[in-house]
Amino acid sequence: MRTSLPRRIAALVLAGAGLTASIAPTDATAQFRLPTRFPVEMELTKPLGFRVGPGLSAAPVLANRNYLQPPTRVKVVAVQGSFGSAGAFCAVEYLGNKGYIRCDDTSALKLAPASAPAPPPSAGPSAPSAPSSVSSGPFCSSKETCRKFCVDNCTFDPKQWGPATCRFPASLLTSAGDPPRSALAPLPALTYVKAEPGVLASAAVIDSFRKADAYIQSHPGALPPGHVVMVDNCYRSTEKNSTRVCGFVLKGNHLQNKWKDRTPQNAAEEATKRRELADAEDYLEPKETKGLSWPGPGQHTRGNACDVKIAKVSGPEHDPDYDDLTVCRADTKDPKNRDLSRRLDEIMTNPAVGAVRLNYEMWHFEFGLTGAAAKNCRCVAPDCADKHWPPMCKGPSGC
Ligand SMILES: [Zn+2]
Repeated sequence: MRTSLPRRIAALVLAGAGLTASIAPTDATAQFRLPTRFPVEMELTKPLGFRVGPGLSAAPVLANRNYLQPPTRVKVVAVQGSFGSAGAFCAVEYLGNKGYIRCDDTSALKLAPASAPAPPPSAGPSAPSAPSSVSSGPFCSSKETCRKFCVDNCTFDPKQWGPATCRFPASLLTSAGDPPRSALAPLPALTYVKAEPGVLASAAVIDSFRKADAYIQSHPGALPPGHVVMVDNCYRSTEKNSTRVCGFVLKGNHLQNKWKDRTPQNAAEEATKRRELADAEDYLEPKETKGLSWPGPGQHTRGNACDVKIAKVSGPEHDPDYDDLTVCRADTKDPKNRDLSRRLDEIMTNPAVGAVRLNYEMWHFEFGLTGAAAKNCRCVAPDCADKHWPPMCKGPSGC
């Protein structure tokens, strides 16, 4: 929830923390002065030009975007003039770009919600405890709000057509509550459970994989000969996860902008337009079309989820090849694949291991959520294979 500016500033003063600010009620609309120490994160509440110099005729900093739209966050580095007075400009940083926005209108900016410092520990035991700053939900949760979020925080080079480059505000990433690196470890070498290089998981998740390995050992036939359980990934940082999703969103946004004011000149261009606009819709809905979650925290970023497959082993023992089988591209009409998926469900969701699976992704397992089985698109064996086959692999549908 966002606190209104006057209340937030009052809280800052009460907290007695480093930043200083005061309310100067010179008229009915509460005026305020900026904190005197910089930098400070602020959020736009009105569109503001982002210029290379402190003047309204200065060139825009960003080639394609003269105005930053609310609720863009900027880091205010300094003020030229008196904040809220005619002619005042703020020197700001936005996505690594330095420039100026006018700051002569106090209703166009407010302190960014997460920038308030925590109360000092010396506040004493009778002081109310600070509310948890860990955000439980995504940073944006719809096609349009996520388009805006990605455009505000990320850039993308259409010539390269590669991943996006994002610079999310540090306070936002902190609010996502990723586990500290010290709470994660690489998956150890096990007999039947293998991991891609670099897979990091929490101690609890690693313990679950040890139990899965033991389950396979004590249940001959749990896996067909020459097959293993392959862990693709577990912990993925909020930053990486969000950057990946924004990469798709920005591609869709680019394709839509490309055709906004352009009329195809011939049949070939007409066909290209149709194809690219259809692609754009897919890119803008990565949750629906790619089974990804919106930017922000989720089960992978909290270290509670792993993507796990059954793989067929071939090649020499010292350098084996693993062919992932229970993946989206698997032929779901082939009964062999359904059988493999069922075996994986049994290995991962039996009571000793205790994982639950997404009912629309045969590889996504979550840990420590046993109560979530059969709820919120989750399932356990044998229901996953009996009631949710084939998994649509295109995000949730009707659950
Ligand atoms: Zn997953």
